[in-house]
Amino acid sequence: MNKRARVLLLNAALGPLDYRVDREHAVEPGSIVLAPLGPRQLAGVVWEPDAMPSDAEVGDNRLRPLLGVYDLPPLKASLRRLIEWTADYYLAPPAAVLRMALASASALDGVRTVTEYRATGHVPPRLTPQRAQALERIDNRQGLVRELATIADVSDGVIRGLVKAGAIAPVEVRVDDPYPLPDPDHLQPDLSPEQQAAADRLTQAVDARVFAPILLDGVTGSGKTEVYFEAVAAALRSGRQTLVLLPEIALTEPFLKRFANRFGSAPVAWHSDLRQSQRRRAWRAIASGEAKVTVGARSALFLPYRDLGLIIVDEAHEASFKQEDGVMYHARDVAVMRGGFEQIPVVLASATPAIETRQQVAQGRYGEVKLPARFGGATMPDIAVIDLTHDRPDRGRWLAPPLVDAVKETLERGEQALLFLNRRGYAPLTLCRHCGHRFQCPNCTAWMVEHRLTARLACHHCGHVMPPPRACPECKEEDALVACGPGVERIADEAALLFPEARTAIVTSDTLWSPAKAAEFVNRMEAGEIDIVIGTQLVTKGYHFPNLTLVGVIDADLGLSGGDLRAAERSFQQIAQVAGRAGRGAKPGRVLVQTYEPAAPVIRALVSGDADSFYAAETDARRSAGAPPFGRFAAIVVSSENLDEAAETARIIGRAAPTVDGMQVYGPAPAPLAMLRGRHRQRLLVHARRALDVQDVIRTWLGKLDLPRGARVAVDVDPYSFL
Ligand code: ADP
Ligand code: ZN
Repeated sequence: MNKRARVLLLNAALGPLDYRVDREHAVEPGSIVLAPLGPRQLAGVVWEPDAMPSDAEVGDNRLRPLLGVYDLPPLKASLRRLIEWTADYYLAPPAAVLRMALASASALDGVRTVTEYRATGHVPPRLTPQRAQALERIDNRQGLVRELATIADVSDGVIRGLVKAGAIAPVEVRVDDPYPLPDPDHLQPDLSPEQQAAADRLTQAVDARVFAPILLDGVTGSGKTEVYFEAVAAALRSGRQTLVLLPEIALTEPFLKRFANRFGSAPVAWHSDLRQSQRRRAWRAIASGEAKVTVGARSALFLPYRDLGLIIVDEAHEASFKQEDGVMYHARDVAVMRGGFEQIPVVLASATPAIETRQQVAQGRYGEVKLPARFGGATMPDIAVIDLTHDRPDRGRWLAPPLVDAVKETLERGEQALLFLNRRGYAPLTLCRHCGHRFQCPNCTAWMVEHRLTARLACHHCGHVMPPPRACPECKEEDALVACGPGVERIADEAALLFPEARTAIVTSDTLWSPAKAAEFVNRMEAGEIDIVIGTQLVTKGYHFPNLTLVGVIDADLGLSGGDLRAAERSFQQIAQVAGRAGRGAKPGRVLVQTYEPAAPVIRALVSGDADSFYAAETDARRSAGAPPFGRFAAIVVSSENLDEAAETARIIGRAAPTVDGMQVYGPAPAPLAMLRGRHRQRLLVHARRALDVQDVIRTWLGKLDLPRGARVAVDVDPYSFL
């Protein structure tokens, strides 16, 4: 009899398939193999047959043979269980989850060098505009032809032309160079007694080598990072690997620097901005166990660590840990599951923990370590309200007089100020003064947002851009377009008018689009080259600028307008986090919050510092509504390019909704974001009691339906977005 192997291929449309294993190939569950599929060859992983039913039973004599086995460590059982769990829980194809584990296809084959390209410095005479643009944008970066073309926003051909002309030349990059080892004893800080006690609890958990989810709840500036670094040191001493998840790739660069100060060398970074050669090197080092500490975005969670000893989720309350397309998982939840499968501690660090996490602590399922005071005698900032119904900004302005005065005083003392407004661009809405025409995205139910810095109108949902037209497309009136409402660019204009001497910087995903840009911003802040930062939620996270002493929140009511179940909590977290940037050094900090609703519970909690009663009230409200974490939601989102098809598909699903005790189905109804990227959207919302296996219900429910071909159905389990 032939030996068979069940293989999960990197093809999301397929479940596992069986193959014949010839004598020269030794495989075991977890082996990474190459298998034929039709005329193609695909990588895949050998799975236990009883853990995953085959898509197609094939007799022994018709099995096709495996083509090869990669010379890589097999995926461990703990990771295979995590992949199964994630696929099952989030109703995703197992192969789509596997793809996140085998995240660098090019890393599999073990080639040791990659040919990259970089500018030689030789500039040929008579450059075409495209070639000139390419050389300017590439500057001193290097990468594959594809990667350089993307950076330069030109075709591959332009880059190849520059190679022929001698302006760009190949360089061999070795991708198996070892990473330096972080040294746990490089520069140990003197911890305060509270910090030491917290650090001891974490290091004990690392040494115990059992599953232990722990909330590290410490106010902003209390030294959470210093404390969890001690846990990282403990993992290093025992030779095991650590994964640190950060919510935003803009935070990686400052983190790498800080880590290198403590441990003598930088950790391995993993995020979407890596070049292929960097991904390949990182992936292989992670799989071999050589990469001792990896810091990354949520996608780092599924990598095949050889000997993981600790996971840290920093800023664990952040909504950006929720992936909103493809496999719609929540990295905080999956991190805890991975900790369970690996039998290791998982530390969730936050100054504003999510209600879901607090509830786990309250029920004794998660441990809790607290840091109630800032480090080094720094005090918590003083938070005060500016009531916009009394203190009105001038017409067409957004800074109320008390905030203007506070900024002025701050600048006079030579200190830095931060103005927070969670809106990119110049103005959220542009309309025609003459006929009232509003600029809407042709692909989405969304206004086009004016960006003056790039002289464009842009859709923040699909990326559609257009130049701002001189004349209204509706009534043809010229120069009649008016900007409505403020974005950060408009606040920057106002700041420039009010404080002409001050040096300002705008911090949004438009300006800090890469880790390098973020590092540049941090350096300029630290060097005192910026007086006023105007930023979106991107500046609320993690940064530590001792000379920043004033934070102004331009519109505290903005976050409440969305109105989903987490709006108040999110608003509280965001303002508490941005407030936490003030006064982190020796100088005390001050926070001014502009609002039309000073009596709103969120605002009152922020001003009084009484987070506990705010959270208690929010938690009660969730409990009585049966909302998470006391009940569960799952969204079913139907989309199609055709309006009728979307509606019809949603109706078919709605009509087939099963009657299940403890479960209710709302909708279908057009989604608030009724059109996105040219697809019409309909939503159904499933609300269930906590103990119900909603996934199983939905799987059976949707599984038997015959749906129109052009419609896409996505299930969002534990949704964070209700748009
Ligand atoms: P958090 O993450 O809780 O906001 P951080 O870990 O960023 O706080 O610490 C705030 C600042 O205080 C950082 O600059 C950090 O280096 C410094 N700090 C905290 N604890 C210590 C310590 N024990 N010794 C020296 N510096 C510390
Ligand atoms: Zn759009």
